[in-house]
Amino acid sequence: MRAWETNVRRVIPYTPGDQPDRPKMIKLNTNENPYPPAPGVEKAVREFQTDCLRLYPDPKASALVEALAERCQVKKEQIFVGVGSDDVLALAFMTFFNSEKPVLFPDITYSFYPVWAEEFRIPYETRALDAHFRIVKEDYVQENGGVIFPNPNAPTSLAMEISEVEEIIRHNQDVVVIVDEAYVDFGAESAVGLVDKYDNLLVVQTFSKSRSMAGMRIGFAIGNPLLIKYLNDVKYSFNSYTMSQLALRLGTEALRDEAYFQETVAKIIKTREQAKRRLAELGFRLPDSSANFLFVTHPEYPAKELYEALKKEDIYVRYFDAPRIDQYLRITIGTDEQMEALYAFLERYEALHRKER
Ligand code: PMP
Repeated sequence: MRAWETNVRRVIPYTPGDQPDRPKMIKLNTNENPYPPAPGVEKAVREFQTDCLRLYPDPKASALVEALAERCQVKKEQIFVGVGSDDVLALAFMTFFNSEKPVLFPDITYSFYPVWAEEFRIPYETRALDAHFRIVKEDYVQENGGVIFPNPNAPTSLAMEISEVEEIIRHNQDVVVIVDEAYVDFGAESAVGLVDKYDNLLVVQTFSKSRSMAGMRIGFAIGNPLLIKYLNDVKYSFNSYTMSQLALRLGTEALRDEAYFQETVAKIIKTREQAKRRLAELGFRLPDSSANFLFVTHPEYPAKELYEALKKEDIYVRYFDAPRIDQYLRITIGTDEQMEALYAFLERYEALHRKER
């Protein structure tokens, strides 16, 4: 080891899902939206005046913040924006989780949480989901340095009732509680309605899923103006210009088309409900998803083998080689055509499996 290596901040990085780029692949592995962003976004790209790229973007991201405040029916002082919700969440960890007591989150959840905790040297403890993969709200009442969980949870796809979410917040008013609502638009009730009641609540959302803009990297947080001020203080002490001119422009444009947003989300929900039935008919078991993905297991197929077999067909899903979930696959909801191709393959796989037995 070189001498300077003793002072390196070593981290075991988060492993994002593969981003293969094959012509006919069916990509159901990173919870992206199979539909394009709102038509106004494309128009805005075509009309984008590149001359503005000479200039630094508005550090306050005012246009986007105002559009979000209007959409979420909160004051603009209650909105923070960042480069995807990963950026917002990382800054929130840095800003709010500075206690000596452990931050609490579920054992099966977004696998970036322990990575940020390690990176920022934040003590943390996980709380086991129950046998049905549900978050046990009573596990979050002990003294702690903060709480974070997604609703719906990932990769389990299960949502909590808002009354249960509120109970966790109510029992933790001395620390910041972050509700990660990356998938909320697909069927869970948002905690945004609680931000005026609880000044310790930060709700984090993203344009990556329901607004089809994972590639543009836009995320945001909603909370009490004081929480938002603290987040901005840390942001301005780190990088003032996180949002590019283009991201600011396109994010604002996406928010204008509420009808397209509703329509896209409804299409995905419809496909998801159908997928639940079709996969159950094919012998899969799955928790009741409120997200844009399903978390499935099959009593007879080893998940990793099925994952590999799907990959050979250019159908990409997500496999987590982790305790308790290594017999599960996470399948993003695609278009109806993509899902039909998945079912067709699974039918062939079933036939093959039957013959082999
Ligand atoms: N939270 C959860 C629970 C997620 O699954 C994801 C997607 N990987 C994110 C946050 C981050 O999404 P993004 O940075 O694209 O907004």
